[in-house]
Amino acid sequence: MKNDELDKCENFIDHEYIEALLNEGKFADNAFISLALDKADRGETLTHGEIAALLQTKNPKHIARIYEIAGNIKKRIYGNRIVMFAPLYVSDYCVNRCSYCSFNHAHNFTRRRLTMDEVREEVKLLEMMGHKRLAVEAGENDAECPIDYIIECIKTIYDMKFENGEIRRVNVNIAATTTENYRKLKSAGIGTYILFQETYHEQTYNRVHLSGPKKNFAWHLNAFDRAQDAGIDDVGGGVLFGLGNPYFDAMGLLLHNEHLEKKYNTGFHTISVPRLCPASGMNIDDFPNPVDDDTFTRIAACLRIAVPFTGMILSTRESRGMRKKLLHLGISQISAGSSTEVGGYVMQDKNAGSGGQRSQFLVNDERSAVSIISELMEDGFIPSFCTACYRSGRTGDRFMSLAKSGQIGNVCLPNALMTLCEYSMDYGDDEFRRKSAAVIEKEISNINNEKIREKTIDNIEKIRSGGERDFFV
Ligand code: SAM
Ligand code: SF4
Repeated sequence: MKNDELDKCENFIDHEYIEALLNEGKFADNAFISLALDKADRGETLTHGEIAALLQTKNPKHIARIYEIAGNIKKRIYGNRIVMFAPLYVSDYCVNRCSYCSFNHAHNFTRRRLTMDEVREEVKLLEMMGHKRLAVEAGENDAECPIDYIIECIKTIYDMKFENGEIRRVNVNIAATTTENYRKLKSAGIGTYILFQETYHEQTYNRVHLSGPKKNFAWHLNAFDRAQDAGIDDVGGGVLFGLGNPYFDAMGLLLHNEHLEKKYNTGFHTISVPRLCPASGMNIDDFPNPVDDDTFTRIAACLRIAVPFTGMILSTRESRGMRKKLLHLGISQISAGSSTEVGGYVMQDKNAGSGGQRSQFLVNDERSAVSIISELMEDGFIPSFCTACYRSGRTGDRFMSLAKSGQIGNVCLPNALMTLCEYSMDYGDDEFRRKSAAVIEKEISNINNEKIREKTIDNIEKIRSGGERDFFV
């Protein structure tokens, strides 16, 4: 933490304003909510007051409409593509005492960070699952896990080449840091810098963060400003649902997004919606604000309506059933085959057991990557391994312009189909190839631009017959 940078931090989350919106929204009448839903249906931007009302409605008719509109937005903007990724935990050393996390400093277990050889072993296993996009995860500890170590991990990952595949995009989810360190991450070629505010409610934030640099609310809140100042224009926000009032936190996410839009012309590239899970070293019953499935679903759908062009990420913290449901309501990116343990993929591979003491938290959806990907196709989705935007420089506001122009279907759809075809050839069995061929055949006609459609057909042929890889628009 740098004192001069800390002095510059602002608190742009107006707590009283959010409380007032929520108090008013709680008593919004049916006519007000119906009009807000009509607006959302026409694709108009909702006011804060309207979103606060939608978030809290308990009227089944309104909730059904929220789901319908969120589903339509999802289909219109993202089609039925679902982008795949996996986390890679590189270090569990942590100086912070976040009361919800198993890596918290007070939790006594043998900690470690991966050597570069171990990073390579983990990445090899992730590549064998077909992943092209990773999120590097670590606890905060400048001595055991300095920024140069993270940079070395990123470089090691990008340098690895396999017969047909490689990791093409490395996102990073590490603690809030200095502008200078963000510059280093930018130079290392990261995709999105992800950081969860955990909760936007300062009092709750102070209560659950017991000590360490992360306890400083303002330092954490201004992390994306420093990242943007350092040139990182793809940032991904989130809150950990289950810590504070979920409606307050949903509104906090929207105000944070607006702050970034105003100041940097680019809001969140993605919003993650993690929900508190059991973990060793904490007792989930100590957290008084659990978010039930219905509330969680409604919040996710309202976020889809409030920020239609922001990608939404759901991890394996959620069960298979919840993931299935939320995919229809706005989620555009999911993880698969995940381990939340340092060295967890090697442990899984050796059947040495994982998911215990050393995991950050216990995952819910423990299925293998291939079974998740296969089920996505059965449910009518297109699993996508696309990493094209960031590699073509379509980041920040350039990505948003593409999304808003409606051209996303002529870019993301061909890329999804080509990467799915690659995946099927390199990692699928005969049955998987048959299934994916049917998806590709059905979806290819939805590419509106004739030239791009023909090029995609041509590339898919090359992937199937000639072994060529890594085509993208
Ligand atoms: N250490 C960095 C930080 O705290 O910002 C990097 C992120 S940490 C590896 C990833 C995220 O896991 C945290 O931001 C937190 O929201 C989430 N997490 C921690 N404990 C959790 C739990 N018990 N259940 C679900 N998510 C949890
Ligand atoms: Fe450390 Fe992050 Fe866990 Fe907090 S959430 S204890 S900072 S790893």
